[in-house]
Amino acid sequence: MDKKTRIAIIGGGPAGLSAGMYLEQKGYENYVIFEKTDHVGGKCHSPTFHGKRHEMGAIMGVPSYYAVHDVELFAGVTHDGPKLHRTYRLPNGKVDHRFDKRLFNIPHLLKLKKQIKKFGEILETKYKGYDVCGHRGVSEGRYEGFAVTPGREPVSGENPNLKDLAMPFKQFVEKNGVPLVQEIWVQPFTSFGYGYFDEIPAAYVLKYLDFQTMMNFVNVNLWTWKDGTQSIYEALNRKLKHPALLNSNIEKIVRGDKVEITVNGKKEVFDKLIITAPLQVGEINNPVAKGLDTYLDVTPEERELFSKIDYERYDTFAWNMAPEAYPEASFYVVDNMTPETLGHGMVFYMRWAGEPEQPMISYRLRKHRDPKETVEEYKARPELGYEETKKTCIEDIKALGLAPLKDENGRDKIIYEFQTYYFPHVFSEDYANGWYEKVEAMQGKNNTYYAGEVMSFGDMDETVEYSRDLVERFF
Ligand SMILES: Cc1cc2nc3c(=O)[nH]c(=O)nc-3n(C[C@H](O)[C@H](O)[C@H](O)COP(=O)(O)OP(=O)(O)OC[C@H]3O[C@@H](n4cnc5c(N)ncnc54)[C@H](O)[C@@H]3O)c2cc1C
Repeated sequence: MDKKTRIAIIGGGPAGLSAGMYLEQKGYENYVIFEKTDHVGGKCHSPTFHGKRHEMGAIMGVPSYYAVHDVELFAGVTHDGPKLHRTYRLPNGKVDHRFDKRLFNIPHLLKLKKQIKKFGEILETKYKGYDVCGHRGVSEGRYEGFAVTPGREPVSGENPNLKDLAMPFKQFVEKNGVPLVQEIWVQPFTSFGYGYFDEIPAAYVLKYLDFQTMMNFVNVNLWTWKDGTQSIYEALNRKLKHPALLNSNIEKIVRGDKVEITVNGKKEVFDKLIITAPLQVGEINNPVAKGLDTYLDVTPEERELFSKIDYERYDTFAWNMAPEAYPEASFYVVDNMTPETLGHGMVFYMRWAGEPEQPMISYRLRKHRDPKETVEEYKARPELGYEETKKTCIEDIKALGLAPLKDENGRDKIIYEFQTYYFPHVFSEDYANGWYEKVEAMQGKNNTYYAGEVMSFGDMDETVEYSRDLVERFF
């Protein structure tokens, strides 16, 4: 492609900004990044309270976040944040001893350890190729992409077993005789808002929590950033030759030989378009996302495929805690990570110890597809309400013995709320029917390329790695 090609990138989150970085590194400098809000970072969102940055969105990485490391090197930042600690509590606030090596637990823990080991071996052999970035070829029993290694070598091959990755994770691990591993994988999966194992295809679970990444979580071998994950992307944006244009309201995109974009009332013409904003079409019951068809001239093929996307209702809020109630560390409430406890607080994250008016962040999910439901039945069923589950979470906090401070009107002091369009994905039926192969076959048609979370997985590294993959393949 001509290096002077004029490229529009929609979205100033990790995917869009890193697309700009990789393009620039390949010699394409004629790009513009349009960001609709007044800041970059998207779901990497780190507001400041009492002079310290806290995390309302992404928190952590692992040493195998090679793509995020590309960004760190380019932007001159490093993972210099507070060490993460992990403890477990029961919903009543008592310590949860399920992972303690106490006598009563030993037989179960030994069985679990055996299954984890077996799972690691199965993944490396029977499911060879499972962990490459993106989903190309998986439903056809192939793998094609870049290895999760520091060199990220291109890899490809045939492996019919990979078709199993379309199954919900629960079914996948049961089929492979290792059901207990769910007890470990659930912690950084469901509590981080990625849904439940009886509804989400194993492909997503394992692209994110490949064996190497999961062992880093188990050993708390994790990265954080002092000024928050948002600061990675702020630094990246400052280093780009063309920082994102903030407050860009895209009104209309019309594609033909060229791509005409009407933004803030002005028409601009580009050769190519990279979309990292939500691809979902149709009505999205979410205050921060709108359907792609509200501004793009979607083709019938795009409409058909992108109407299959669903997302998670995953919300966070920060509240100020009474000093006498400070816990010793962040904790998980594993009992609240089940479909039956939908809407309850699953993680309680305390980033800086011993601060005045210590903010603590809680995380909850609001929708679950029952395996007995068709996609249509699931979509027609209302989700739990935002306010209703916020109330549930506050009751959870009190039951845990963590008193929130009161504001001047005697109300619980909630200092920040963050509602996102989270983890777009497709369900097993569509995954198995080749959704990814069809979308990948559309890459480049109408001068349009698709990137961002749904193309790989909703974490920082998979999205940045996919932007790299896209630029490597097509530019
Ligand atoms: C609570 C929470 C915890 C998380 N924890 C982790 C974690 O610990 N580790 C991890 O790796 N990941 C984590 N994530 C996920 C991670 O933040 C996302 O996967 C990542 O930010 C996705 O990048 P993206 O660029 O694809 O999308 P986003 O971050 O959503 O960015 C999309 C950008 O596009 C903009 N946009 C949308 N529509 C338009 C439009 N029409 N025009 C212009 N701009 C538009 C948005 O404003 C946004 O800035 C977490 C996320 C949340 C919310």
